[in-house]
Amino acid sequence: MFRPALQDGHNRSVSYVRISVTDRCNLRCSYCSAPTFSPHSRAQILSYEEILRLVKVLVGLGVDKVRLTGGEPLVRRHLDSLIARLNDIDGINDISLTTNGVLLEKLAAPLWAAGLRRVNVSLDTLNPLRFKKITGRDYFDRVLGGIKAALAIGFTPVKINIVVMRGVNDDELLAFAELTRKYPIHVRFIEYMPIGSSSVWNPADMVSGDQIIEQISTEIAGLEPVVSEFGGPARLYRLPGAPGKIGVITAMSNHFCDSCNRIRVTADGHLRACLLSDKEFPLREVLRAGGDPEKIAEMVRLAVASKSAEHGLACNSERKCARVMSTIGG
Ligand code: SAM
Repeated sequence: MFRPALQDGHNRSVSYVRISVTDRCNLRCSYCSAPTFSPHSRAQILSYEEILRLVKVLVGLGVDKVRLTGGEPLVRRHLDSLIARLNDIDGINDISLTTNGVLLEKLAAPLWAAGLRRVNVSLDTLNPLRFKKITGRDYFDRVLGGIKAALAIGFTPVKINIVVMRGVNDDELLAFAELTRKYPIHVRFIEYMPIGSSSVWNPADMVSGDQIIEQISTEIAGLEPVVSEFGGPARLYRLPGAPGKIGVITAMSNHFCDSCNRIRVTADGHLRACLLSDKEFPLREVLRAGGDPEKIAEMVRLAVASKSAEHGLACNSERKCARVMSTIGG
């Protein structure tokens, strides 16, 4: 299928969209959700029909990869039906999901049946008490059950995303790394980013990718770099003989903006060309004002043209983006 490349002003092609299907979440992670939060009404968030119409236009512009996120995407009912319909769109080559895993044990089978083949689970600690402290909920066992169910069904890869925060969970790097010796999972350590105007983020809380890798390789012998099969921003490593991989995502200390190929759509239908920029384009208005595909495409092109060369947040920056992550979609 011929697809024109959706080009920004810095020689990058956009081929990947992350769509938040809800701003609601069944966890209350302090660094991700706002202290007081009133979720969007059903009328404010994009319907599945609107999401599908949008994706069809995006495919026509060169997008072939979709990730569903949130809030917590699995709290939205019948997500499997959306996935099945996305799968039917000619030109979509890759569908993925980012979830906290709380509902995954129950939903892994219908998601698989709908055609989903890979999944990222966010899990910041392997300690149930700490899990409750970070997330505000006592659901550690459910998440573990979700990861096990995903592995048993055959999702490949199952990635575990850990946001590393100094003094919160940076003493668990080795325990997470050791998981890759036992299971064919990708453990990915993510640098803590300044998101949310009232966020608790402090530069000193961020542990850099280099520090993470140094700590692991000091304690465990033989950590070696590997080349990623799928591209993507993670720098990957493997322990000797391990079926799994270890990755670091260094959005702060060594950003990868020059290879950024993504745009984001919030649950309430705003298009963001950069995770860390508050510039948004009101796609929902266009979708609901007749939804002329050419008008949708025009707004997408405008947003992509506005993509800045870099996110501009150095490690010590005080600037924060106004929305918290749960309302953007990570
Ligand atoms: N509820 C789903 C989940 O937990 O994966 C999807 C949405 S959540 C917003 C997506 C990811 O964003 C999670 O892995 C979360 O840890 C990450 N995240 C949230 N705030 C962050 C921050 N300030 N810096 C880095 N990652 C963050």
